[in-house]
Order: sequence, then C-alpha cells, then structure tokens
Amino acid sequence: MRRLTWLRPQQAQRIVGYSVLLLIVATNASLLLLVPFSMRRFWIVAALYATGTLATLFLLLHPRNQWLVANRSQVESSDSRRCVGLTFDDGPSEEMTPRLLDILREKGVKATFFLVGREAERHPDLVRRLRDEGHVIGNHTFSHPPLFCFLTPSRLRMEIERTQEVLARLTGRRPRLFRSPVGLRHPFLAQTLEEVGVEYISWQLRTFDTYPQGREALRARVLGRINPGDIVLMHDRPARGTSAMLSALPEVIDLLRDRGYQFTTP
Ligand SMILES: [Zn+2]
Repeated sequence: MRRLTWLRPQQAQRIVGYSVLLLIVATNASLLLLVPFSMRRFWIVAALYATGTLATLFLLLHPRNQWLVANRSQVESSDSRRCVGLTFDDGPSEEMTPRLLDILREKGVKATFFLVGREAERHPDLVRRLRDEGHVIGNHTFSHPPLFCFLTPSRLRMEIERTQEVLARLTGRRPRLFRSPVGLRHPFLAQTLEEVGVEYISWQLRTFDTYPQGREALRARVLGRINPGDIVLMHDRPARGTSAMLSALPEVIDLLRDRGYQFTTP
C-alpha cells in the first residue's frame, strides 16, 4: 500500500475535530449575550453569529477545503497536463451502471466509481463487473447519510468500515479511496480515514449531472471548464439528469481526446 504521507498525526486531527465542535457550540452560545437586550449587543451578537456560521459552513461544506481532511481534486500522474479523471458516485445501480460501463468499455476509458456499500450488496454482479473491467472502486459510505456532518463518531466509523468490508468481500481487495456524500465533512473524518486506511478524493469539476439539463448543456459545461489534471464528478444513480449525462458522455470523451486528454484514475 502507498505510504499515506498526507496524514497529520492523530492527536492533531483530534484537536482540529474538537475545535470545530467548539466553534459550533460557541457560535450558538453567543446568542446568550443578547440578554439583557440592547441594540449594541444585538449588532455584536449578529457579527459573532454570522462569522461563526460562515466559518462552520466553509469547514463542513466546501469540497476542497483542507482543514478537516487532506484531499486531492487533481489526478496524480507523471503527465497530469494531459490527463483527466472521471469519477462516478452513488452506484452501482441496475438502471444506470450497465449502460455507463458499456460506454466506457466501447471508448476504452477507465474511471473511478465511489460505491454506496448498501447498493453494492444489492448488486454484487455489477461490482464484480466494475472490477473485471479495470475500473477503480472507492468507498462512498454504506447508506449515503444526508446528514453526514452530524453522525456520531461510531456511526461514521461504521459507515466507512462496513463499506470497506462489503467491497473487499465482493472484489477481493479493500478500497484505498474515499469520498463522502456530497463532499460533506465531519469533525472526526481525518482520524477515521487514517484508522481505516483510505485517502479522501474530492473533485475539481462538478457537472451537476443529477440536475435536469440537456445533453448540450452538460457537454458545454464539461468542455468549457475542464483543465488538465482535473477530477470530474458525475453520478450513476437514476436521477432526472443522468440520462442526459449518458447520452453526452461518448461525445465528451471523443472531444476531450481530440484536445489531447487521456483518461486516468486518482
Ligand atoms: Zn453521493
């Protein structure tokens, strides 16, 4: 296994985690300063509350911030000037994944799939097909909890570890990459990922492929915004926009190749 040099010491990770919890508590506790009420106190509390809330939102929601967990949004390649990495989250799905795999096989493209453990258990044949066709399989939690930021530490650990076990059982190897639902952070994520032995992978280009948009819009978005080395976020769960993604993808792959791009994995 690759040496995980991006990790900080566990103790420092724990201090960062508790600091974020303290920030959240202090932001809310600042409301107590409103008693006794005066306009001067009101403006001070408003400033404290807004600053604390914005800082918390940045730490928990920004997909590329490095404060709570070190992460990459670029492929690591000897020639990243000519590379992009396609990543697909939330699968496997009976409806989308086979069609996507057919396209990738026809085009000779290897991609990275961040699988939801529960869905992987439901579709073991699709997981094996992903492995057999040479794609990289990453961990995307067991149940894709929407309130990922607020999981208890033990639930957080279970979401990640259980998915490692499911995927190891189905593919014969433990994933080494992880991405959280919607890129959300958790105060104790870095520590947990180090204990499990996986690296956090973010993205540089979000395609918004789950939103209803035409294939032209999706194609224009990718080709207009792509830069060398970028990791691209897409999805292979059924959503209103993902059929447009499937119909745009072959052409997007061809046009990126015309520009000299190669497809690689993180
Ligand atoms: Zn997801």
